Amino acid sequence: MNELPPSLWSKTAIAGPDCPPLAGHEAADVVIVGAGYTGCSAALHLAREGKEVRVLDTAEPGWGCSGRNGGQVNPGGQRATPEEVIDVLGDDWGNRFNQMGHATCDLVFDLIKAYDIECEAVRPGYIQGGWNQQGLKYQQEWADQWRARGVEIELLNGQQMMDLIGSEHYSHGMYDSRGGNVQPMSYARGLVHAAIAEGAVIHGRSPAIGIEKDGSDWVVVVEGARSVKAKYLIIATNGYTGDLWPGLKQTVVPVSSFVAATQPLGHNLLSAILPGKHAVSESGRVIVYYRLDHKGRLIIGGRGNFLNINQIGDNTHVREIATRLFPALSDVKWDYHWGGWPAITKTHMPMLVGLAPNAFSGLGYNGRGVAMATMMGKQLSMAILDDSADLRVQLLDKFTFHGMRQLGITYRLVVGSWLDGRPPAKSA
Ligand SMILES: Cc1cc2nc3c(=O)[nH]c(=O)nc-3n(C[C@H](O)[C@H](O)[C@H](O)COP(=O)(O)OP(=O)(O)OC[C@H]3O[C@@H](n4cnc5c(N)ncnc54)[C@H](O)[C@@H]3O)c2cc1C
Repeated sequence: MNELPPSLWSKTAIAGPDCPPLAGHEAADVVIVGAGYTGCSAALHLAREGKEVRVLDTAEPGWGCSGRNGGQVNPGGQRATPEEVIDVLGDDWGNRFNQMGHATCDLVFDLIKAYDIECEAVRPGYIQGGWNQQGLKYQQEWADQWRARGVEIELLNGQQMMDLIGSEHYSHGMYDSRGGNVQPMSYARGLVHAAIAEGAVIHGRSPAIGIEKDGSDWVVVVEGARSVKAKYLIIATNGYTGDLWPGLKQTVVPVSSFVAATQPLGHNLLSAILPGKHAVSESGRVIVYYRLDHKGRLIIGGRGNFLNINQIGDNTHVREIATRLFPALSDVKWDYHWGGWPAITKTHMPMLVGLAPNAFSGLGYNGRGVAMATMMGKQLSMAILDDSADLRVQLLDKFTFHGMRQLGITYRLVVGSWLDGRPPAKSA
């Protein structure tokens, strides 16, 4: 059994329901491989429309990125501005994507409320900091284009950034009212509870090892001579996608990503650092993100090991960035560090893939999956229920040089960091 990483989240999350391994051969309307946000949200939305759903996971639900992330509920669905989305998808699908992207954070907080999910949810908004012209231009475009669509966004100068987050690191920034934070493993387990309450059946310790056809049905073969047969198939394995479906693995590059958490900060530090408890990230090419949890720990995340994307690496660099942002943190103790593998796509947009008739996959959130994977689950259910998904169902879009992904990632991270030109630390 794959153990959970020793993260802050796995130590403090609400208990998950019992999800016993699949026993023998079962049938359902829909079989879903992967019990993270994507798979569990799809299960929840399908089950509440009366579909019989079985979800299979190699480990326990939430074991993947869904139980390991920074817990930031990021707005917009992806990083591209609304007009960039329209440039890529055209007017019709672009506008539908933007409306869907706009609704992602609401969906998370509405589900938390509707199913009474205890996951330390707060919604103070999302702040992005920047220090160069490229970041300023991006934030102005984001603000202008979302404001034109009725969203409350504020552009901030360096002093306002200092007042809001307590760091002198940024010369400018923006505030987007839609974002917030959750305890990610509790949220994952809450979705599992909710899906089960709606009638879905979720199995841990049930690794899918093959997919076969039986007439027009799909049969997911599970290790140990077990299987689930269903009319519809969803593969929701994101950065942990293996060779279950030919070519699916090549549509994403899993990149190691790292999170570290301090000890709970004392009253003096908390009065100065992130007093508004916002979710914060940066406009740079190599993203860093941070926030406080409900006990007052600083949670900060960033790239993992860039020389070997199959390893998480150590936490030196995120600690170093934390003290550049907040020099007063130089003496705090770091209690936890862990990592996982989010998935990057070629276009940096999430993908709803039509694998074959009645077979779909939703994946590729480019590090923004708390809200978007939850929405993808809903979109997958819409594709199955009445072909009404707001995401265009697309073909497999593979990286041409997938075998050379390590080289590409190392290059992007090294050159990206250099181009970002992060300012040095200000003295404590
Ligand atoms: C360190 C880190 C920090 C992040 N921070 C943020 C953040 O702050 N905000 C944000 O929006 N996003 C963040 N992300 C990204 C976000 O967590 C993911 O995009 C999201 O959780 C993806 O959900 P998912 O359900 O698609 O995939 P996952 O949660 O990864 O689930 C995939 C599941 O598939 C299962 N699986 C794989 N193969 C098989 C098989 N053959 N049979 C059965 N099961 C299988 C795995 O066991 C796993 O449980 C972060 C990710 C990481 C790793």
